[in-house]
Amino acid sequence: MITRDFFLFLAKNDFMKDKARKWGPKFGAKSVIAGETIEEAMQTAKELNEKGLKVTVDHLGEFVYNKEEAMDAADYCIRTLEGMEESGVDCNLSLKLTQLGLDIDKELCISNMRAILDTAKKYNNFVRIDMEDYSHIEATFEVLEELRKTHDNVGPAIQAYLFRSEQDVEALKGMNIRLMKGAYNESPEVAFKDQKEIDNNYINIIKRHMRNGSYAAVATHDHKIIAEVKKFAEENGISKDQFEFQMLYGFRSELQEEIAAEGFKMRVYVPFGNDWYGYFMRRLAERPQNITFAVRGVLTN
Ligand code: FAD
Repeated sequence: MITRDFFLFLAKNDFMKDKARKWGPKFGAKSVIAGETIEEAMQTAKELNEKGLKVTVDHLGEFVYNKEEAMDAADYCIRTLEGMEESGVDCNLSLKLTQLGLDIDKELCISNMRAILDTAKKYNNFVRIDMEDYSHIEATFEVLEELRKTHDNVGPAIQAYLFRSEQDVEALKGMNIRLMKGAYNESPEVAFKDQKEIDNNYINIIKRHMRNGSYAAVATHDHKIIAEVKKFAEENGISKDQFEFQMLYGFRSELQEEIAAEGFKMRVYVPFGNDWYGYFMRRLAERPQNITFAVRGVLTN
């Protein structure tokens, strides 16, 4: 039996990550990754926009330990923002701080982020900081605090599986936050392990954030959570402008379109680039049914 832990273990395998960069998307990853270039990502964003869907693109990459690579990643983020402006898509940017040097030097990461946020500001755009594993949480919030002194076009992501998430949502009141269950393998000392407890805490933090009058980006494929959020908004007179739903590219596409057709904001997270391996392994870990992507991919590659 292939387990969640096995795929999360594979997700961190540096040898495989390195090989995967050279191969390009394999094992069915193509159905959940929008190509390798900015042009391909923009083309996908355009197609999704035509279906009434908003987009956030993520140039895949994480855990960079080399200064030059971190600066190149920042430069690529800037070019991606320019690509959005040139192609006129309804799209913002998602990124990971470890890609921008968080593990090398916090100041380098802050300076890379400021350059990206300046460009986003110029184009009236927004940047979402994805949340990574627990060991990066404190540093991520420290960087965010620094950035918020000069920029308001940036927002974090909070993982409902963490015990601390309720406290974090309260501390970040007023900010545009993405809320999701959480994708990494965390210790029972810091995170709920039981699915029901995670779901309960997820609903709890979403409602808390919305009740505070803050903007919530509810990132889930779980129709039960989505139904509950819609009901909560309606019962509490919360406008459709105060929240959005988010799903990953290639997952529940029909449901994405249905939600948009109902007049809710629906944003699709579109990853692209050659560093696809860790992202794809985490998606396989989340849902055993996703393995059909991999099997289909092996057969068609
Ligand atoms: P699950 O708990 O996986 O599923 C719940 C139920 O929903 C399932 O039992 C099933 O009934 C239904 N369902 C789910 N998927 C499908 C499907 N494909 N087809 C049919 N039914 C389905 N994690 C992080 O740690 N950091 C981040 O920054 C981050 N950003 C994210 C951004 C976006 C836009 C999204 C969507 C997710 C992000 N995640 C992130 C991942 C997230 O934390 C979860 O690991 C992931 O979304 C799986 O949880 P879920 O809420 O989608 O539903």
